[in-house]
Amino acid sequence: MHETIVSQTVNADGLIPVATRPADSHATVSLTPLSPPRRLLLGAGPGMVDARVYQAMTQPVVSHVDPFFFQLTDRVHTMLAAVFGTGNRFTMAISGTGTAAMEAAISNFAGPDTPVALFVNGYFAERMSDIASRQGARLFRLDGPWGEPFDEQRAREFILRTQPRVVAYVQAETSTGVFQPGRAICEAAHAVGALVVADCVTSLGTMPVAVDETGIDIAFSCSQKGLCCPPGLAPITLSSRGLDVLRARRTPLRSFYLDLQLLDQYYVGAHRYHHTASATLFYALHEGLAAIAEEGIEQRWQRHIENHEALVAGLESLGLRMLVAPASRLSTIHTPLVPKGIDEGALRTRLRDSHGIEIMGGLGPLAGKILRIGLMGAGSTRTNVLRLLECLEEALRAERFEPAESGVLAAERHYART
Ligand code: PLP
Repeated sequence: MHETIVSQTVNADGLIPVATRPADSHATVSLTPLSPPRRLLLGAGPGMVDARVYQAMTQPVVSHVDPFFFQLTDRVHTMLAAVFGTGNRFTMAISGTGTAAMEAAISNFAGPDTPVALFVNGYFAERMSDIASRQGARLFRLDGPWGEPFDEQRAREFILRTQPRVVAYVQAETSTGVFQPGRAICEAAHAVGALVVADCVTSLGTMPVAVDETGIDIAFSCSQKGLCCPPGLAPITLSSRGLDVLRARRTPLRSFYLDLQLLDQYYVGAHRYHHTASATLFYALHEGLAAIAEEGIEQRWQRHIENHEALVAGLESLGLRMLVAPASRLSTIHTPLVPKGIDEGALRTRLRDSHGIEIMGGLGPLAGKILRIGLMGAGSTRTNVLRLLECLEEALRAERFEPAESGVLAAERHYART
């Protein structure tokens, strides 16, 4: 490894020469203030950060053991529970991104040899399977086509046949744009005494997650999508059934950082020091959740539906077909198929470089085959829908695809009807 030593002399370009060891080469480090590009983030995440969230992040830092910090986390936990649709006492935001919460959700409940039943029809379900397998769990997978939800009867039969202790599924599969209803999964899981883990990373704050109504035992999410914050905190909630299992565990979890017993003692119990949680990220989350409370959660869901429908109307008018059938679509992630002969990478680069708009491409088997367009939280607006459709039309033409009709007009017609 090269160790970098910064010297003091600044040259005319605001660059300082850097001496590197062991090689005697010379590099430069810029001292010019950063000026990140202002993107319109309409990909699969992160989404747009609310202006009031940025503002909140400029407040003074308090320590992770300050009484004010715990008043703040209590408020955040209460607001989070409302957005999750739960009365769960154990509802918190842990440090890390959605994957940290995914790993916490699996590893605290599935250890070596635990039978785990997984519904796998997308990239993030695959990730849960990978995490469970790294725990040494005994996996039972039901694989399904990417772009379709699991049928309720098949889901029930799978759980009754495999008799797992833990069942895991993705409520909002970001890699395909599919919503997976969970009621039948939860009923069957509870009938065999299993806990249900649901990945709600792309639904929280934008669509009904309905933890209690669905019967989910462990639900988790992230801060950077529907909650309009930067990445860095990962909400998680446990049902009383999940909490009983957590509390009954006598052996320490191998992961110290993700041990939910310890995190419970830090945030909720005796406030015993566990790690230096970021006050700044909690300010952000507080503000993101306050914005949801002010808007009203149901109005927010409705806003996402309206913009989702307008965008789909526009995309279809341009001549694009959607991967997912209407009844199973998320109102956050839109997955049109890439028209034949179009280089989707070039299309996305054009949108980014000429218009400052980020959208994303497919993952895994859908790489090169779909686009992923996110309308989440502060990004789900009429202005953004119309701007994206206009720029996408221009980019498609540049890629020699002749749109069938104007996407903007179709979306405007849709808005006029609602
Ligand atoms: N699960 C789903 C459904 C996701 O969409 C993502 C990320 O987009 C993750 C898990 C992982 O979250 P993160 O990238 O925040 O670690």
